[in-house]
Amino acid sequence: MNYLSTRGHPDRKRFCDILLEGLAPDGGLYLPEQYPKIDTATLAKWRDLPYAELAFEILSLYIDDIPPADLKAICAKTYTAEVFGTDEIVPLRELEDGVYLEALSNGPTLAFKDMAMQLLGNLFEYELARRGAELNILGATSGDTGSAAEYAMRGKKGVRVFMTSPDGRMSPFQQAQMFSLQDANIHNIAITGVFDDCQDIVKAVSNDLGFKRKYRIGTVNSINWARLLAQVVYYFAGYFQATASNDKPVSFTVPSGNFGNVCAGHVARMMGLPIQTLVVATNENDVLDEFFRTGVYRVRAAVDTHETSSPSMDISKASNFERFVFDLVGRDAAKLRKLFVDDLGLEGRFDLSVDPAFKDAAERFGFKSSRSTHADRLATIRDTDKRFATLVDPHTADGLKAARESLAPGVPMVVLETALPIKFAETLVEALGEEPARPKKFEGIEALPKRVVKLPADAEAVKAYIAQNCD
Ligand SMILES: *Cc1c(COP(=O)(O)O)cnc(C)c1O
Repeated sequence: MNYLSTRGHPDRKRFCDILLEGLAPDGGLYLPEQYPKIDTATLAKWRDLPYAELAFEILSLYIDDIPPADLKAICAKTYTAEVFGTDEIVPLRELEDGVYLEALSNGPTLAFKDMAMQLLGNLFEYELARRGAELNILGATSGDTGSAAEYAMRGKKGVRVFMTSPDGRMSPFQQAQMFSLQDANIHNIAITGVFDDCQDIVKAVSNDLGFKRKYRIGTVNSINWARLLAQVVYYFAGYFQATASNDKPVSFTVPSGNFGNVCAGHVARMMGLPIQTLVVATNENDVLDEFFRTGVYRVRAAVDTHETSSPSMDISKASNFERFVFDLVGRDAAKLRKLFVDDLGLEGRFDLSVDPAFKDAAERFGFKSSRSTHADRLATIRDTDKRFATLVDPHTADGLKAARESLAPGVPMVVLETALPIKFAETLVEALGEEPARPKKFEGIEALPKRVVKLPADAEAVKAYIAQNCD
Protein backbone atom coordinates (compact mmCIF):
# COMPACT_ATOMS: atom_id res chain seq x y z
CA MET A 1 0.00 0.00 0.00
CA ASN A 2 1.33 3.41 -1.02
CA TYR A 3 0.37 6.77 0.41
CA LEU A 4 -0.13 10.02 -1.49
CA SER A 5 -0.54 13.66 -0.49
CA THR A 6 -3.93 15.33 -0.87
CA ARG A 7 -2.15 18.24 -2.57
CA GLY A 8 -0.71 16.26 -5.44
CA HIS A 9 2.98 15.82 -4.56
CA PRO A 10 4.36 13.15 -6.94
CA ASP A 11 6.12 11.08 -4.23
CA ARG A 12 4.54 7.91 -2.92
CA LYS A 13 5.43 6.62 0.53
CA ARG A 14 5.08 3.48 2.61
CA PHE A 15 3.37 3.33 5.98
CA CYS A 16 6.46 3.43 8.20
CA ASP A 17 7.75 6.53 6.42
CA ILE A 18 4.62 8.54 7.09
CA LEU A 19 4.30 7.07 10.61
CA LEU A 20 7.00 9.39 11.96
CA GLU A 21 6.11 12.36 9.74
CA GLY A 22 3.49 15.08 10.04
CA LEU A 23 2.28 16.85 6.93
CA ALA A 24 3.40 15.84 3.45
CA PRO A 25 6.16 18.06 2.00
CA ASP A 26 3.60 20.08 0.02
CA GLY A 27 1.51 20.77 3.13
CA GLY A 28 -1.09 18.13 2.27
CA LEU A 29 -2.28 15.18 4.34
CA TYR A 30 -1.37 11.57 3.61
CA LEU A 31 -4.01 9.12 2.40
CA PRO A 32 -3.77 5.61 0.96
CA GLU A 33 -3.79 5.51 -2.84
CA GLN A 34 -7.05 3.62 -2.62
CA TYR A 35 -9.26 2.20 0.10
CA PRO A 36 -9.17 -1.60 0.30
CA LYS A 37 -12.68 -2.97 -0.28
CA ILE A 38 -14.16 -5.46 2.15
CA ASP A 39 -16.52 -8.08 0.71
CA THR A 40 -19.26 -9.84 2.65
CA ALA A 41 -17.20 -13.01 3.05
CA THR A 42 -14.45 -11.03 4.77
CA LEU A 43 -16.96 -9.21 6.97
CA ALA A 44 -18.38 -12.58 7.99
CA LYS A 45 -14.91 -13.84 8.85
CA TRP A 46 -14.18 -10.79 10.97
CA ARG A 47 -17.47 -10.73 12.89
CA ASP A 48 -16.38 -12.90 15.78
CA LEU A 49 -12.72 -11.90 16.03
CA PRO A 50 -11.37 -10.55 19.31
CA TYR A 51 -10.58 -6.82 19.05
CA ALA A 52 -6.79 -7.18 18.77
CA GLU A 53 -7.16 -9.66 15.91
CA LEU A 54 -9.70 -7.49 14.14
CA ALA A 55 -7.24 -4.59 14.47
CA PHE A 56 -4.51 -6.77 12.97
CA GLU A 57 -6.70 -7.73 9.98
CA ILE A 58 -7.64 -4.12 9.23
CA LEU A 59 -4.17 -2.70 9.79
CA SER A 60 -2.65 -5.39 7.57
CA LEU A 61 -4.56 -3.97 4.61
CA TYR A 62 -2.75 -0.65 5.04
CA ILE A 63 0.64 -1.67 6.45
CA ASP A 64 2.89 -3.86 4.31
CA ASP A 65 6.27 -2.77 5.62
CA ILE A 66 6.05 -4.41 9.05
CA PRO A 67 6.29 -8.22 9.06
CA PRO A 68 2.82 -9.68 9.85
CA ALA A 69 4.02 -11.52 12.96
CA ASP A 70 5.41 -8.27 14.39
CA LEU A 71 2.27 -6.29 13.57
CA LYS A 72 0.15 -8.99 15.17
CA ALA A 73 2.27 -8.84 18.32
CA ILE A 74 1.95 -5.04 18.44
CA CYS A 75 -1.86 -5.27 18.19
CA ALA A 76 -2.00 -8.00 20.83
CA LYS A 77 0.15 -5.97 23.20
CA THR A 78 -1.92 -2.80 22.65
CA TYR A 79 -5.52 -3.92 22.90
CA THR A 80 -5.72 -5.83 26.18
CA ALA A 81 -8.40 -6.00 28.86
CA GLU A 82 -5.76 -4.83 31.28
CA VAL A 83 -5.32 -1.52 29.44
CA PHE A 84 -8.91 -0.99 28.23
CA GLY A 85 -10.89 -2.50 31.07
CA THR A 86 -12.92 -5.20 29.27
CA ASP A 87 -12.39 -8.12 26.88
CA GLU A 88 -14.58 -6.36 24.31
CA ILE A 89 -12.24 -3.30 24.50
CA VAL A 90 -15.10 -1.12 23.11
CA PRO A 91 -18.27 -2.60 24.66
CA LEU A 92 -21.59 -1.46 23.22
CA ARG A 93 -24.73 -1.01 25.28
CA GLU A 94 -28.24 -0.07 24.32
CA LEU A 95 -29.40 3.13 25.96
CA GLU A 96 -32.89 3.33 24.53
CA ASP A 97 -34.67 1.61 21.68
CA GLY A 98 -32.21 1.66 18.75
CA VAL A 99 -29.72 4.07 20.36
CA TYR A 100 -26.40 2.64 21.56
CA LEU A 101 -23.34 3.98 23.32
CA GLU A 102 -19.99 2.56 22.20
CA ALA A 103 -17.53 2.91 25.07
CA LEU A 104 -14.24 4.22 23.73
CA SER A 105 -13.10 5.83 26.94
CA ASN A 106 -11.97 3.09 29.26
CA GLY A 107 -8.29 3.40 28.39
CA PRO A 108 -5.60 4.91 30.63
CA THR A 109 -6.72 8.55 30.31
CA LEU A 110 -10.48 8.00 30.05
CA ALA A 111 -10.91 9.55 26.61
CA PHE A 112 -11.16 7.93 23.17
CA LYS A 113 -7.76 9.27 22.11
CA ASP A 114 -6.21 6.33 23.98
CA MET A 115 -7.63 3.98 21.32
CA ALA A 116 -5.20 5.35 18.75
CA MET A 117 -2.44 6.75 20.91
CA GLN A 118 -1.74 3.46 22.71
CA LEU A 119 -1.14 1.83 19.33
CA LEU A 120 0.98 4.76 18.18
CA GLY A 121 3.22 4.40 21.25
CA ASN A 122 3.94 0.77 20.42
CA LEU A 123 4.40 1.46 16.69
CA PHE A 124 6.83 4.30 17.45
CA GLU A 125 8.88 2.18 19.82
CA TYR A 126 9.03 -0.62 17.26
CA GLU A 127 9.99 1.54 14.30
CA LEU A 128 12.52 3.68 16.20
CA ALA A 129 14.26 0.55 17.50
CA ARG A 130 14.34 -0.87 13.98
CA ARG A 131 16.00 2.31 12.70
CA GLY A 132 18.20 2.82 15.74
CA ALA A 133 16.68 6.30 15.96
CA GLU A 134 15.22 8.58 18.60
CA LEU A 135 12.32 11.00 18.57
CA ASN A 136 11.43 13.96 20.77
CA ILE A 137 7.72 14.61 20.63
CA LEU A 138 6.78 18.22 21.15
CA GLY A 139 3.13 19.02 21.68
CA ALA A 140 0.61 21.53 22.95
CA THR A 141 -2.43 20.43 24.87
CA SER A 142 -5.42 21.82 26.68
CA GLY A 143 -6.25 18.37 28.03
CA ASP A 144 -7.10 15.11 26.30
CA THR A 145 -4.41 14.89 23.61
CA GLY A 146 -1.49 15.60 25.90
CA SER A 147 -2.43 13.09 28.54
CA ALA A 148 -3.22 10.39 25.97
CA ALA A 149 0.19 10.98 24.34
CA GLU A 150 2.03 10.86 27.66
CA TYR A 151 0.33 7.67 28.84
CA ALA A 152 1.08 6.08 25.47
CA MET A 153 4.76 7.06 25.38
CA ARG A 154 5.71 6.71 29.05
CA GLY A 155 8.65 4.40 29.50
CA LYS A 156 8.96 3.79 25.74
CA LYS A 157 12.50 3.44 24.45
CA GLY A 158 13.71 6.03 21.95
CA VAL A 159 10.92 8.49 22.68
CA ARG A 160 10.74 11.59 24.87
CA VAL A 161 7.66 13.75 25.25
CA PHE A 162 7.78 17.51 25.82
CA MET A 163 4.19 18.58 26.40
CA THR A 164 3.31 22.23 26.82
CA SER A 165 0.02 23.26 28.44
CA PRO A 166 -1.37 26.61 29.60
CA ASP A 167 -0.44 27.02 33.27
CA GLY A 168 -3.42 26.65 35.58
CA ARG A 169 -5.99 26.33 32.79
CA MET A 170 -6.60 22.61 32.64
CA SER A 171 -9.04 20.99 35.06
CA PRO A 172 -7.43 19.83 38.33
CA PHE A 173 -8.11 16.23 37.29
CA GLN A 174 -6.43 16.66 33.90
CA GLN A 175 -3.44 18.41 35.50
CA ALA A 176 -3.09 15.65 38.05
CA GLN A 177 -3.34 12.97 35.35
CA MET A 178 -0.43 14.43 33.43
CA PHE A 179 1.76 15.95 36.13
CA SER A 180 1.71 12.87 38.38
CA LEU A 181 3.62 10.84 35.78
CA GLN A 182 7.11 10.28 37.12
CA ASP A 183 8.62 8.64 34.02
CA ALA A 184 11.99 10.10 33.07
CA ASN A 185 11.03 10.40 29.38
CA ILE A 186 7.92 12.54 30.06
CA HIS A 187 8.35 16.30 30.44
CA ASN A 188 5.43 18.53 31.42
CA ILE A 189 5.95 22.19 30.61
CA ALA A 190 3.40 24.63 32.05
CA ILE A 191 3.50 27.82 29.99
CA THR A 192 2.48 31.09 31.58
CA GLY A 193 -0.08 31.91 28.90
CA VAL A 194 -3.07 30.44 27.06
CA PHE A 195 -3.40 27.41 24.76
CA ASP A 196 -2.70 29.52 21.66
CA ASP A 197 0.67 30.53 23.17
CA CYS A 198 1.53 26.84 23.53
CA GLN A 199 0.56 26.17 19.93
CA ASP A 200 2.60 29.15 18.74
CA ILE A 201 5.63 27.82 20.60
CA VAL A 202 5.28 24.39 18.99
CA LYS A 203 5.02 26.05 15.58
CA ALA A 204 8.03 28.31 16.21
CA VAL A 205 10.20 25.40 17.36
CA SER A 206 9.10 23.23 14.40
CA ASN A 207 9.83 26.07 11.97
CA ASP A 208 13.42 26.26 13.21
CA LEU A 209 14.55 23.52 10.84
CA GLY A 210 18.09 23.38 12.22
CA PHE A 211 16.85 22.83 15.76
CA LYS A 212 14.18 20.42 14.56
CA ARG A 213 16.72 18.23 12.79
CA LYS A 214 19.36 18.39 15.51
CA TYR A 215 16.92 17.40 18.25
CA ARG A 216 14.75 15.11 16.09
CA ILE A 217 11.52 16.93 16.93
CA GLY A 218 8.27 15.20 15.97
CA THR A 219 4.58 15.44 16.80
CA VAL A 220 1.65 13.15 17.51
CA ASN A 221 -1.16 15.43 16.38
CA SER A 222 -4.43 14.25 14.97
CA ILE A 223 -3.37 14.45 11.32
CA ASN A 224 -1.13 11.41 11.82
CA TRP A 225 -2.48 8.69 9.52
CA ALA A 226 -1.66 5.90 11.97
CA ARG A 227 -3.96 7.48 14.55
CA LEU A 228 -6.77 7.69 12.05
CA LEU A 229 -6.21 4.11 10.93
CA ALA A 230 -6.36 2.81 14.50
CA GLN A 231 -9.75 4.48 14.87
CA VAL A 232 -11.19 2.71 11.81
CA VAL A 233 -11.16 -0.53 13.83
CA TYR A 234 -13.77 0.48 16.39
CA TYR A 235 -16.31 1.33 13.68
CA PHE A 236 -16.12 -2.31 12.59
CA ALA A 237 -16.25 -3.50 16.22
CA GLY A 238 -19.27 -1.25 16.88
CA TYR A 239 -20.99 -2.47 13.74
CA PHE A 240 -20.58 -6.13 14.66
CA GLN A 241 -21.96 -5.55 18.15
CA ALA A 242 -24.99 -3.59 16.92
CA THR A 243 -26.05 -6.15 14.30
CA ALA A 244 -26.68 -9.88 14.08
CA SER A 245 -25.73 -10.17 10.40
CA ASN A 246 -23.74 -8.27 7.79
CA ASP A 247 -26.62 -7.12 5.60
CA LYS A 248 -27.94 -4.57 8.12
CA PRO A 249 -27.00 -0.88 7.96
CA VAL A 250 -25.88 1.02 11.07
CA SER A 251 -25.44 4.75 11.66
CA PHE A 252 -22.86 6.44 13.87
CA THR A 253 -22.87 9.80 15.63
CA VAL A 254 -19.48 11.29 16.40
CA PRO A 255 -18.70 14.24 18.71
CA SER A 256 -16.30 16.12 16.42
CA GLY A 257 -13.54 18.69 16.64
CA ASN A 258 -10.64 18.17 14.27
CA PHE A 259 -12.64 15.65 12.19
CA GLY A 260 -10.20 12.83 13.01
CA ASN A 261 -12.65 10.48 14.65
CA VAL A 262 -15.46 10.85 12.11
CA CYS A 263 -12.95 10.73 9.24
CA ALA A 264 -12.09 7.22 10.42
CA GLY A 265 -15.81 6.43 10.08
CA HIS A 266 -15.68 7.79 6.55
CA VAL A 267 -12.75 5.47 5.76
CA ALA A 268 -14.64 2.48 7.20
CA ARG A 269 -17.63 3.37 5.03
CA MET A 270 -15.42 3.74 1.94
CA MET A 271 -14.07 0.25 2.68
CA GLY A 272 -17.60 -1.06 2.41
CA LEU A 273 -18.76 -1.28 6.03
CA PRO A 274 -22.55 -0.85 5.77
CA ILE A 275 -22.77 2.57 7.44
CA GLN A 276 -25.90 4.46 6.51
CA THR A 277 -25.29 7.84 8.16
CA LEU A 278 -22.33 9.53 9.83
CA VAL A 279 -23.63 12.33 12.03
CA VAL A 280 -21.06 15.01 12.77
CA ALA A 281 -21.93 16.50 16.17
CA THR A 282 -20.46 19.94 16.90
CA ASN A 283 -20.81 22.43 19.74
CA GLU A 284 -20.99 26.22 19.50
CA ASN A 285 -17.83 25.98 17.35
CA ASP A 286 -19.90 24.89 14.40
CA VAL A 287 -17.45 25.17 11.49
CA LEU A 288 -18.29 21.65 10.35
CA ASP A 289 -22.04 21.88 10.87
CA GLU A 290 -22.03 25.04 8.79
CA PHE A 291 -20.21 23.23 5.98
CA PHE A 292 -22.54 20.24 5.87
CA ARG A 293 -25.59 22.53 5.93
CA THR A 294 -24.41 25.12 3.41
CA GLY A 295 -21.35 23.92 1.49
CA VAL A 296 -19.35 26.87 2.85
CA TYR A 297 -16.25 26.07 4.93
CA ARG A 298 -15.28 29.13 6.92
CA VAL A 299 -12.45 28.85 9.44
CA ARG A 300 -12.75 31.02 12.52
CA ALA A 301 -10.26 33.45 14.03
CA ALA A 302 -8.98 32.73 17.54
CA VAL A 303 -11.25 35.45 18.95
CA ASP A 304 -14.29 33.82 17.33
CA THR A 305 -13.51 30.42 18.80
CA HIS A 306 -15.74 29.86 21.82
CA GLU A 307 -14.56 28.33 25.06
CA THR A 308 -17.28 25.79 25.74
CA SER A 309 -18.15 23.05 28.20
CA SER A 310 -17.18 20.44 25.58
CA PRO A 311 -13.66 21.89 25.24
CA SER A 312 -12.11 19.08 23.18
CA MET A 313 -14.40 20.15 20.34
CA ASP A 314 -13.39 23.83 20.53
CA ILE A 315 -11.71 24.26 17.18
CA SER A 316 -11.36 27.11 14.72
CA LYS A 317 -10.55 24.83 11.80
CA ALA A 318 -10.80 21.06 11.49
CA SER A 319 -7.32 19.80 10.68
CA ASN A 320 -8.40 16.44 9.20
CA PHE A 321 -11.20 17.85 7.08
CA GLU A 322 -8.94 18.12 4.02
CA ARG A 323 -8.92 14.31 3.80
CA PHE A 324 -12.67 14.11 3.36
CA VAL A 325 -12.80 17.03 0.93
CA PHE A 326 -10.18 15.26 -1.20
CA ASP A 327 -12.57 12.33 -1.60
CA LEU A 328 -15.52 14.69 -2.02
CA VAL A 329 -13.94 16.41 -5.04
CA GLY A 330 -13.12 13.04 -6.63
CA ARG A 331 -9.50 13.05 -5.47
CA ASP A 332 -8.72 15.96 -7.77
CA ALA A 333 -5.55 17.36 -6.16
CA ALA A 334 -5.55 20.54 -8.26
CA LYS A 335 -9.07 21.35 -7.17
CA LEU A 336 -8.21 20.49 -3.56
CA ARG A 337 -5.21 22.82 -3.69
CA LYS A 338 -7.32 25.65 -5.00
CA LEU A 339 -9.74 25.22 -2.10
CA PHE A 340 -7.22 24.78 0.73
CA VAL A 341 -4.29 26.88 -0.49
CA ASP A 342 -5.83 29.65 -2.62
CA ASP A 343 -9.34 30.16 -1.24
CA LEU A 344 -8.70 29.26 2.39
CA GLY A 345 -5.25 30.85 2.42
CA LEU A 346 -6.43 34.15 0.96
CA GLU A 347 -9.99 34.48 2.16
CA GLY A 348 -10.28 32.08 5.10
CA ARG A 349 -13.15 30.26 3.41
CA PHE A 350 -14.18 28.20 0.44
CA ASP A 351 -17.57 27.71 -1.07
CA LEU A 352 -18.79 24.45 -2.60
CA SER A 353 -22.49 25.30 -2.30
CA VAL A 354 -23.12 25.26 -6.06
CA ASP A 355 -20.54 22.58 -6.86
CA PRO A 356 -22.11 19.33 -8.10
CA ALA A 357 -19.67 17.46 -5.82
CA PHE A 358 -21.41 18.97 -2.79
CA LYS A 359 -24.96 18.65 -4.10
CA ASP A 360 -25.24 14.92 -3.55
CA ALA A 361 -22.53 14.69 -0.87
CA ALA A 362 -24.95 13.67 1.86
CA GLU A 363 -26.18 10.82 -0.27
CA ARG A 364 -22.82 9.65 -1.57
CA PHE A 365 -20.93 9.92 1.71
CA GLY A 366 -23.73 9.63 4.25
CA PHE A 367 -22.88 12.75 6.24
CA LYS A 368 -25.30 14.72 8.38
CA SER A 369 -24.48 17.29 11.04
CA SER A 370 -25.78 19.03 14.11
CA ARG A 371 -24.87 21.75 16.61
CA SER A 372 -25.36 21.89 20.37
CA THR A 373 -25.17 24.57 23.04
CA HIS A 374 -24.24 24.55 26.70
CA ALA A 375 -27.94 24.43 27.61
CA ASP A 376 -28.41 21.39 25.33
CA ARG A 377 -25.54 19.59 27.05
CA LEU A 378 -26.93 20.20 30.52
CA ALA A 379 -30.40 19.07 29.40
CA THR A 380 -29.03 15.90 27.77
CA ILE A 381 -26.88 15.02 30.79
CA ARG A 382 -29.91 15.43 33.12
CA ASP A 383 -32.27 13.55 30.84
CA THR A 384 -29.85 10.65 30.33
CA ASP A 385 -29.27 10.41 34.08
CA LYS A 386 -32.99 10.53 34.88
CA ARG A 387 -34.31 8.14 32.25
CA PHE A 388 -31.43 5.67 31.96
CA ALA A 389 -29.44 6.14 35.20
CA THR A 390 -26.40 6.75 32.98
CA LEU A 391 -23.90 9.58 33.26
CA VAL A 392 -22.42 10.96 30.04
CA ASP A 393 -19.68 13.51 29.59
CA PRO A 394 -20.44 16.82 27.81
CA HIS A 395 -18.93 15.69 24.47
CA THR A 396 -20.93 12.48 24.44
CA ALA A 397 -23.98 14.57 25.38
CA ASP A 398 -23.46 16.64 22.21
CA GLY A 399 -23.40 13.34 20.34
CA LEU A 400 -26.60 12.03 21.93
CA LYS A 401 -28.51 15.17 21.10
CA ALA A 402 -27.33 15.03 17.48
CA ALA A 403 -28.11 11.31 17.23
CA ARG A 404 -31.74 11.78 18.25
CA GLU A 405 -32.23 14.23 15.39
CA SER A 406 -31.12 11.66 12.82
CA LEU A 407 -32.77 8.41 13.90
CA ALA A 408 -34.17 6.18 11.17
CA PRO A 409 -36.56 3.30 11.91
CA GLY A 410 -34.83 -0.08 12.00
CA VAL A 411 -31.31 1.37 11.74
CA PRO A 412 -29.28 1.14 14.96
CA MET A 413 -27.67 4.47 15.90
CA VAL A 414 -24.32 4.10 17.63
CA VAL A 415 -23.12 7.16 19.56
CA LEU A 416 -19.39 7.17 20.19
CA GLU A 417 -18.66 7.91 23.84
CA THR A 418 -15.52 10.04 23.64
CA ALA A 419 -14.75 10.64 27.33
CA LEU A 420 -15.84 9.57 30.79
CA PRO A 421 -17.80 12.14 32.84
CA ILE A 422 -15.17 12.38 35.59
CA LYS A 423 -12.87 14.21 33.17
CA PHE A 424 -15.38 17.04 32.98
CA ALA A 425 -16.72 16.95 36.53
CA GLU A 426 -17.45 20.69 36.69
CA THR A 427 -20.16 20.46 34.02
CA LEU A 428 -21.59 17.29 35.57
CA VAL A 429 -21.84 19.14 38.91
CA GLU A 430 -23.56 22.03 37.16
CA ALA A 431 -26.08 19.67 35.57
CA LEU A 432 -26.69 17.25 38.42
CA GLY A 433 -25.34 18.83 41.58
CA GLU A 434 -22.88 16.03 42.24
CA GLU A 435 -19.51 14.69 41.15
CA PRO A 436 -19.46 11.58 38.97
CA ALA A 437 -17.82 8.47 40.40
CA ARG A 438 -14.15 8.15 39.66
CA PRO A 439 -12.39 4.92 38.65
CA LYS A 440 -10.32 3.44 41.48
CA LYS A 441 -6.98 4.01 39.81
CA PHE A 442 -7.58 7.76 39.80
CA GLU A 443 -8.62 8.15 43.43
CA GLY A 444 -6.60 10.83 45.15
CA ILE A 445 -4.38 11.63 42.15
CA GLU A 446 -4.58 15.36 42.89
CA ALA A 447 -2.49 14.72 46.01
CA LEU A 448 0.35 12.90 44.21
CA PRO A 449 3.74 14.60 43.70
CA LYS A 450 3.79 16.66 40.51
CA ARG A 451 6.49 16.62 37.86
CA VAL A 452 6.25 19.87 35.87
CA VAL A 453 8.37 22.89 35.02
CA LYS A 454 6.97 26.35 34.52
CA LEU A 455 8.34 28.38 31.59
CA PRO A 456 7.43 31.75 30.05
CA ALA A 457 5.54 31.87 26.74
CA ASP A 458 8.80 32.01 24.82
CA ALA A 459 9.96 29.49 22.21
CA GLU A 460 13.63 30.10 23.09
CA ALA A 461 13.02 29.07 26.70
CA VAL A 462 11.34 25.86 25.53
CA LYS A 463 14.18 25.12 23.10
CA ALA A 464 16.73 25.59 25.87
CA TYR A 465 14.77 23.20 28.10
CA ILE A 466 14.59 20.56 25.35
CA ALA A 467 18.33 20.87 24.63
CA GLN A 468 19.15 20.43 28.33
CA ASN A 469 17.02 17.33 28.64
CA CYS A 470 18.11 15.50 25.52
CA ASP A 471 21.01 13.42 26.68
C1 LIG B 1 -10.49 14.95 20.78
C2 LIG B 1 -11.89 14.81 21.30
C3 LIG B 1 -13.01 15.01 20.47
C4 LIG B 1 -12.90 15.44 19.02
O1 LIG B 1 -12.34 14.45 18.20
P1 LIG B 1 -11.79 14.80 16.73
O2 LIG B 1 -11.12 13.58 16.28
O3 LIG B 1 -10.87 15.97 16.92
O4 LIG B 1 -12.97 15.18 15.90
C5 LIG B 1 -14.28 14.82 21.01
N1 LIG B 1 -14.44 14.47 22.31
C6 LIG B 1 -13.39 14.28 23.14
C7 LIG B 1 -13.64 13.93 24.56
C8 LIG B 1 -12.08 14.45 22.67
O5 LIG B 1 -11.03 14.26 23.50
